[in-house]
Amino acid sequence: MLDIILRGANLPDGRENHDIAIADGRIAAVEPALKAEAAREIDVRGRLVTPPFVDAHFHMDSTLSLGRPRLNESGTLLEGIALWSELKPHLEVETIKARAHELCRWAIARGSLAIRSHVDICDDELLAVEALLEVKREIGPFLDLQLVAFPQDGFLRHATARENLLRALDKGVDVVGGIPHFERSMAEGARSVAELCEIAAARGLPVDMHCDETDDPLSRHVESLAYETQRLGLEGRVTGSHLTSMHSMDNYYVSKLIPLMRAARLHVVANPLINITLQGRHDSYPKRRGMTRVKELMAAGLNLAMGHDCVMDPWYSLGSHDMLEVAHMGLHVGQMTGTAEMGACFEAVTVNAARVLGLEGYGIEPGCNADLVVLQAADPIEALRLKPARLHVLRRGRVIAETPPVAATLYTGQAPSSVDFGRPD
Ligand SMILES: [Zn+2]
Repeated sequence: MLDIILRGANLPDGRENHDIAIADGRIAAVEPALKAEAAREIDVRGRLVTPPFVDAHFHMDSTLSLGRPRLNESGTLLEGIALWSELKPHLEVETIKARAHELCRWAIARGSLAIRSHVDICDDELLAVEALLEVKREIGPFLDLQLVAFPQDGFLRHATARENLLRALDKGVDVVGGIPHFERSMAEGARSVAELCEIAAARGLPVDMHCDETDDPLSRHVESLAYETQRLGLEGRVTGSHLTSMHSMDNYYVSKLIPLMRAARLHVVANPLINITLQGRHDSYPKRRGMTRVKELMAAGLNLAMGHDCVMDPWYSLGSHDMLEVAHMGLHVGQMTGTAEMGACFEAVTVNAARVLGLEGYGIEPGCNADLVVLQAADPIEALRLKPARLHVLRRGRVIAETPPVAATLYTGQAPSSVDFGRPD
């Protein structure tokens, strides 16, 4: 006997009215009109069922710290970094853990079951590393948390960053991070990329760098990242996050750069909510938008994901860890309103992001983990339009979160009527 059957699902690839059978934490079958019985059946007719949302870029050590020790009055990236430096000396393991766990609860309720989080290693006590390694273990049954050793104050610029980064990796942090545009010179930025990639190669780890998060068209560390990836044979294991300078680069140079990135099989993560608010701050008008070239990178065959980056922290006051809000913003900023383009934005927060994290058993096929989200929407485009309720969230075949369907009751006619914002028949 099966554990659960979801009856009548719409799937992200357009298949409709399929039954999804679950046994022993895995998907046992996906087919129309399945003749079988289960301990529980859930009617999902007309609802989109998707593998979980995945956040490929987040900062779990600073999340939900909004207002401590003070608000970011200017709303800029540099004041955010300064504010984080003010907060760091006051951090404690228990408060970091409590905030991170609360964020994970929000993420689970929103159907996000995997998050790659950068963790600042420039604090010599590595409190945030300790805290998030514990959270990773504790939340593991419900959510995959992957950690990146992130030298926020610069790998070469900050005196103890190298030693701390190696210690963090020894403790079990999963990925090597970096921030080449924050080093003291372009040359040091390039050297940091080389040395960090060498550390990753020696330890067999992936790389994910904050790279060129600036409006400077001459910030070209992604070129070094692609070069070092190929030099060290790291193809497919390296991610360039943000890459906002690509927005401002000369088109001729980009026509050379993108094929180099493709050859290195770089993954790219854009963070639309943050890029649209933090970049272009030195411009008057016309004002640059600062998101990397999402459409062009996807067209060239690179794997591109969209990340949330921040929720209620020194850099961003808003958010509730809704990856559909991220994709919705990315779609608008990137002018990706074509039918296939909208579908690609949905993939940027699901399957593409899962590829960045290297998640195994992700998808809706027999044999995959029974990690699924039932949405109050008929298809991916409606999901992007409505950012709807996550009716059921399943992890390894068990329902771990539910939200009732949202509907408004109107009293404008002779009898009450209801509105759920679905497509009219
Ligand atoms: Zn970031």
